[in-house]
Amino acid sequence: MGSPIRTEKKTIFDIPPPQKIKVTEYDLDVYRCSNCGMYVKSKHRDCPQERDMGIYLLNYIKMLKYNLLGVIKKVQEFLSVNNDIDLSVKGINDALLRVGDICKSEYMNIRKMTWTPLICTIF
Ligand SMILES: [Zn+2]
Repeated sequence: MGSPIRTEKKTIFDIPPPQKIKVTEYDLDVYRCSNCGMYVKSKHRDCPQERDMGIYLLNYIKMLKYNLLGVIKKVQEFLSVNNDIDLSVKGINDALLRVGDICKSEYMNIRKMTWTPLICTIF
């Protein structure tokens, strides 16, 4: 056919399939201090130091709770049907409490802020 006469663009709108759960296992070395006998566990920057849910899953659950109007049973069903994640209502509630704990200090800082109203001067 030879060289094309021209190139035409075609834009398609689509949505990727829902993400499935990704499980990562970290190897965290544990050391024992030869002086005091205290145990020290190594850290990994992507591994949460508390519990077993990653930051993206915590954030996802929080956003789902907001978008599904706060009904935890709907969050549970959505996670199961769309993402193959089966969590108990307590597990989801614990995740939400954890996000609340993480954000508490920033929330308190925001509450302390004084706001200066913007005055719109468009004529
Ligand atoms: Zn020591």
